[in-house]
Amino acid sequence: MLIFKFGGASVKDADSIKNVLSILKKYPEKKIIVIVSAIGKTTNNLEKIYQSILNKDKVEFELAINLFYNEHLKIINDLELDTNSSPFQYLEQIKTFFENKFSSEISDNHFFEYDQIVSLGEIMSSIILETYVSKELSNSCFLDARKVLRTDNNFRQADVVWNKTMDLVNNFIQSIFNSKTIVITQGFIGHTAEGFTTTLGREGSDFSAAIFAYCVNAESVTIWKDVPGMLNADPKYFDNTQKLDSISYKEAIELSYYGASVIHPKTVKPLQNKNIPLFIKSFFKPELEGSVIHTSEENDDFCPSFIFKKEQILFSISTKDFSFINENELSEIFQILASKKIKVNLMQNSALSFSFAVDQNLINTSEIIELFEKKHLIKYNENLELLTIRHYNTEVIQTNTKNKSVILEQKTRSTVRFLLKN
Ligand code: ASP
Repeated sequence: MLIFKFGGASVKDADSIKNVLSILKKYPEKKIIVIVSAIGKTTNNLEKIYQSILNKDKVEFELAINLFYNEHLKIINDLELDTNSSPFQYLEQIKTFFENKFSSEISDNHFFEYDQIVSLGEIMSSIILETYVSKELSNSCFLDARKVLRTDNNFRQADVVWNKTMDLVNNFIQSIFNSKTIVITQGFIGHTAEGFTTTLGREGSDFSAAIFAYCVNAESVTIWKDVPGMLNADPKYFDNTQKLDSISYKEAIELSYYGASVIHPKTVKPLQNKNIPLFIKSFFKPELEGSVIHTSEENDDFCPSFIFKKEQILFSISTKDFSFINENELSEIFQILASKKIKVNLMQNSALSFSFAVDQNLINTSEIIELFEKKHLIKYNENLELLTIRHYNTEVIQTNTKNKSVILEQKTRSTVRFLLKN
């Protein structure tokens, strides 16, 4: 069994969806589970719909809902799916659902509401894809991931309940594969024991692919992307990027942890645990090799890899009475950070201070200051850049830190990290 994951860019319009079909046709003798993300940037737009419902902002709401409706309608029309087809009917139902949400009181559990709204992008894309594929091929079937991927009730960042998910996935998949060979389902979404929809965190579809792979003991997972494979740097920021043909699970997990956006950080563990290879291939050029992530560490240090994160803010916390930042202090600080779901990108401590860097746009600076200022002194430094280099050498460090001031530096044998100011 193969698992194919198609992200938003690979289903962004009718031509891209036709391209997905042509890729599926290349594997006639395989059983394939297709995991699809929401179309293009739909999830960002759904977040706007959610926010405008919370704020009761009619103007924003209308803009976002029209964009959602028109983008999907265009694809449905371009694929020549008629107005009696399920995609069209679902689109109408979803629009009515949003309008009702806007005009009624929503619950205080905002993360719950977020999941009920934002999950609908994947539902729409998978219905469109499956309807189109089944028009062309008779062997495909739709599966609602909200029936099989069981999670806890941690809305917006749900954790998988593995045993239950294994049972459900295998029951559904086995019965579908008795008569079909392609299952089309969604990434990113699951359900609680009570049947409420959950999401696994932004960009979570890669993780869904790994969950399905783990449950069915898949032969491999392929993530189809608009790049030729896993690159040693983001071409948005670096010239002369190189493709990493083969890297280990360990290297991949380190790169994604430091912020390489090519795969979601949680994807690797389930695959490593069952020794399932992960291929990253170009959906423009499916015949090319791409990259493979597997057990062998042989090529991990083939070349330096760069991970660059802009808009970082560095907070430095110290005690008001000149006492040490000891283990108890640290554990209090971490409890506060964890309770607010703040993701720390880099940290360092000294006798009197603890510093941590986070993505500026994911936090509310005044809220963080408020959290700490009762007991601590807190300072911050904004608009920094975080550069991580794996398998570094002196030359690449010099070239990449030239003309920038180093605010903080951390070095191990394989990795060097800099917080830089331009
Ligand atoms: N559609 C979701 C997002 O944009 C999940 C994904 O694509 O991986 O975050």
